[in-house]
Formats: sequence, structure tokens, C-alpha cells
Amino acid sequence: MSEMKTEKMALADKLYRTKYEPDAAHPHIVVDQAICANCKEKVCLVVCPAEVYKADPNDPNKVTVSHENCLECGTCRKACPFDGIKWLYPEGGKGVKYRFG
Ligand code: SF4
Ligand code: SF4
Repeated sequence: MSEMKTEKMALADKLYRTKYEPDAAHPHIVVDQAICANCKEKVCLVVCPAEVYKADPNDPNKVTVSHENCLECGTCRKACPFDGIKWLYPEGGKGVKYRFG
């Protein structure tokens, strides 16, 4: 039996394979920080494959959102138990563009 080759790629290398057209003036993800402040588990910090959500270094009750890195998979909007995420597809021509696949 041939040995299966398993190489791990760093997240940054994986994300390099995608191209983004960010719309800084119109973020397509907005969280309700008042809801987030009462959310203990903060699943958004672990479910996002692109690590878009991070704990706010200035206030761990809040989350920061790097919407420009979003892969538009939709996981976070399903996973948030408190409906704290307002998520819309970016306007046409904006957002993620897949280079390979
Ligand atoms: S899971 Fe939802 S409510 Fe909780 S911190 Fe994340 S976005 Fe906010
Ligand atoms: S849609 Fe997917 S990639 Fe974008 S922020 Fe949500 S979980 Fe992350």
C-alpha cells in the first residue's frame, strides 16, 4: 500500500490562493456588539475558516471582523446562536474571487 502524503498548509498560504476585491466602504458583515457582549461561547471565533472574527484586544467582550478576508461560505451566520451577525453578499464585482477552483 502506498504511503499517503500529508502536507499541512498554513492558513495564510491557503488564503493566498484566493483573491479579494474588498468593499471597505460597505462591509458585508456587521456584528451587533451589544449582543456579542452577552455571548459567552463566541462560536464565531472558531467556526470561520478564514479567521475573520477575532476577540477584540481592547475589550474581550467584543469581536473584531476582518470582512475583507471573508470566503463567503456562510458558516458564521448559521453558527451564531443569537442572530448577532448581519450578513449580506458583497455588491457585484466585490468580495472573494477564487483563483484555483
Ligand atoms: S457568536 Fe454571534 S453573538 Fe456570539 S460573539 Fe459571535 S457574532 Fe457575536
Ligand atoms: S461567511 Fe465563512 S468565511 Fe465569511 S466570515 Fe462567515 S464563516 Fe468566515
